[in-house]
Amino acid sequence: MAYFSTNDDRLLFLPLGGSGEIGMNLNLYGHKGKWLMVDCGMSFADDHFPGVDLVFPDPSFIASEKDQLLGLVVTHGHEDHIGAIPYIWDRFECPIYVTAFTAALVRDKLQEAGLTDRVELHVVKADEAFKLGSFEITYLALAHSIAEGHGLVIKTGKGTLFHTGDWKLDDNPLIGPVCPSAKLKALGEGGVLALVGDSTNVFNLGESGSELAVRDSLIALCKEMTGRIIITTFASNVARLDTVGEVARQTGRHLVLLGRSMQRISKAAMETGYLSNFPPMMNEEDAAHIPRDKVLIVCTGCQGESRAALSRIARDEHRHLTLSEGDNVIFSSKIIPGNELTLGQLFNTLAANKINVITEKDEFVHVSGHPAQAELAKMYEWTRPKVAIPVHGEARHLLKHAAFARAQGVKHALAPKNGDVIEITSEGAFVVDEAPVGRLILDGDVVTEAGNFAVTERRRASQQGFVTVSLIIADDGVVSAEPQLAILGLPAKIPELLYDTLLDAVEGAIERMSSKKRQDNNSVEETVRVAIRRICRSSIGKNPGVGVLITRQDEIEFA
Ligand SMILES: [Zn+2]
Ligand SMILES: [Zn+2]
Repeated sequence: MAYFSTNDDRLLFLPLGGSGEIGMNLNLYGHKGKWLMVDCGMSFADDHFPGVDLVFPDPSFIASEKDQLLGLVVTHGHEDHIGAIPYIWDRFECPIYVTAFTAALVRDKLQEAGLTDRVELHVVKADEAFKLGSFEITYLALAHSIAEGHGLVIKTGKGTLFHTGDWKLDDNPLIGPVCPSAKLKALGEGGVLALVGDSTNVFNLGESGSELAVRDSLIALCKEMTGRIIITTFASNVARLDTVGEVARQTGRHLVLLGRSMQRISKAAMETGYLSNFPPMMNEEDAAHIPRDKVLIVCTGCQGESRAALSRIARDEHRHLTLSEGDNVIFSSKIIPGNELTLGQLFNTLAANKINVITEKDEFVHVSGHPAQAELAKMYEWTRPKVAIPVHGEARHLLKHAAFARAQGVKHALAPKNGDVIEITSEGAFVVDEAPVGRLILDGDVVTEAGNFAVTERRRASQQGFVTVSLIIADDGVVSAEPQLAILGLPAKIPELLYDTLLDAVEGAIERMSSKKRQDNNSVEETVRVAIRRICRSSIGKNPGVGVLITRQDEIEFA
């Protein structure tokens, strides 16, 4: 049964991801019995999920409503907005709407997932309205740290919504239109019921800064440098790539592009009309043979990713290119929270080899793609929404943003959390229901629930170790051979002693069982598990996972 009927006039907003975390954005708008999805992103897994790479919002709610789902409208091509598509799209199956550059990135993902023939992918243009059910949608181009960032103007019978997507104001963004203040003011003139917007940098005062200013600074910096220069940045920041091309030109250096995503995204950018002034590129083999001060390398790995080009060069594991004393590495990027340790190690590896390391803390080499307070204030001044719903942030960002919006004169502001079904009216935003939410993970090649047994077990084993016990039990319930133990990841001064102690504990525990209970495998397993854990806790302070394998002698068939 559908969640609401086509006669239902309420205008609903329901975030399933991205409200309470930075990453994995997935938002739904509901009206007249139909849903519109905005973005379908992923996050990278942290230490809580050992061995897991990616995390996605659990789309169960919309999967159960997929007949009512009109489409997925994508604001831009960052992974926290498109990354889950290849993994969870088949659970809700709907057409996807994107602009040209984002389409190139999404197409790659669909192809890798073998979904190309199944997904209806519509390429739309900014400023051209299109209808999905009772929603009329117009992409509004905004500056961001990727080509083709967009806000969405969504007109409904209940009023106009402005879903900002990720944005900033930049009078010189280098690619894409300059700050669309006139359009945003016109939007405000027409009346905005609710603004649903980016909270990432709500704690930052002032403005995020312009891409042009970074270009000027990088050119000046690199003109002073001798030796090889590596600039590392996110490949999807096409304006920054364009800047690196300009730096190469103005410093008389040959440009080398390293890293798979660098190659892939620059190709997508060129195919969709960007990087038209990019200088000719030199391949890495040739670059190895020309003077060091004639080379500028742009590469992936700005977050210290161990498999990326930069880390491989730093470890001297790159096939052609090396760094030596006096060379320079510029991190034209932000240090994403959580990556400090990995990056710290990389900085140290480079510094130990007398390579100059320059980060945003040393020089002006990066600007953010998200609005700081001065930009948020202008956005509210121009669009004057009745209601503000902050998204794209952790709880503290959303609450701060809601308070900030109120201080800008917005009458109603509500900080949502994933799963809140929110009704938007001119009187405010109200949580009217809760929808099921959760997380899915990519574990190996398998997409599964985040709370699944495999990960809990692995987490326990990774922290507390694991003991496997093998028992052979005769018909009369007697253990007929010495139990075998495999001990994994447990500390012991004398390993043999730990083995013997655990073996004694197992034998003693089984001996104390009644012969009736020994007939029951579950009882034997539980008794052995308790015995092992008790001894481990008291003797070495660990509480390991325990696996018990029981072979019943009467079940052994002899051929
Ligand atoms: Zn983004
Ligand atoms: Zn984002």
